[in-house]
Amino acid sequence: MLVLMPLNAPREHIESVKSKLLENDCKPHEIPGLVKLGIGVTGPTNKLRVEDFQTMDSVDEVVRVTKPFKLVSREMKKEDTTIQVGSQLIGGKKLTIIAGPCSVESKDQILEISSTLKEVGVSLLRAGAFKPRSSPYAFQGLKSAGLQILADAKKELGMSIVTEVKDTDTLDEIAAVADIIQIGARNMQNFSLLERIGELRQPVLLKRGLSATIEELLMSAEYIMSQGNYQVILCERGIRTFETYTRNTLDLNAIPVIKQLSHLPVIVDPSHGIGIADKVPAMALAGVACGGDGVIVEVHPHPELALSDGFQSLTPKNFKEMIGKIRQLAPIVGKEI
Ligand code: PEP
Ligand code: MN
Repeated sequence: MLVLMPLNAPREHIESVKSKLLENDCKPHEIPGLVKLGIGVTGPTNKLRVEDFQTMDSVDEVVRVTKPFKLVSREMKKEDTTIQVGSQLIGGKKLTIIAGPCSVESKDQILEISSTLKEVGVSLLRAGAFKPRSSPYAFQGLKSAGLQILADAKKELGMSIVTEVKDTDTLDEIAAVADIIQIGARNMQNFSLLERIGELRQPVLLKRGLSATIEELLMSAEYIMSQGNYQVILCERGIRTFETYTRNTLDLNAIPVIKQLSHLPVIVDPSHGIGIADKVPAMALAGVACGGDGVIVEVHPHPELALSDGFQSLTPKNFKEMIGKIRQLAPIVGKEI
């Protein structure tokens, strides 16, 4: 259920709506839009009577939300959600670029790639310190030492950090450094992790699971938002299909579908989506063309030496060329970069 009130409704009117919801074992979520203040309601809303709320002071409208995902849905909030991360506004008209190596490997690597990013005006650096790998024998990341390198890049170079959390044990440590906490595809349905992240008040990049449906992705976002963390960015990173030539199948269909179902920003990851470096720029452009709010791409100073995902990592030169093309495309699809 959604209770709509004027943006300038007196605080006591807002509070009495919220208390009435709490008395009925429901949870109110204040979601300010451009023209109205929405109070999203989760919990046993079937027990609530619309009429009881419609007559309350400053209540304009009470709407039943029909979708299984509530706070995530466009029914709950018509306007696009935007999320400020450092100097970058994510969502709305803005196109966001997040880039960096798959894993943090050394301070030199992070310094080098950060200067590449800065040359093209990209402030969001991605790199994993705790890596979920398919093989226990593969490089698992530099862990805490890797986080320290990211903290240095943040302090010394002003980069905003996007880094993955693998489990609840390391969440606090990661949250202290990350400007955006990345939840990897393999953890999209780690519900205890989602709930813990929901208790934080910092932006989250939620990647679509390997074989997750659009609805499952949105329900996972709902887990985070239901705990009060509304700063969720969705990420399409490719799904498993019968095709083996490419690493995954980047599901571009999902972008316009999710944009209609949800107000949350959607970022496209063509690196994991196709898994072949020389084809990443084409899919990045396609992701922007079909309405993505930006891209997250892997770039490495020396992809042939990368400890993870080198085959899908762009060289700095190819990365800069791709950014040039994205800049040309952005205004055609009504985006600013
Ligand atoms: C990554 O971003 O390096 C990564 C592990 O991605 P995913 O969770 O989408 O596989
Ligand atoms: Mn990777």
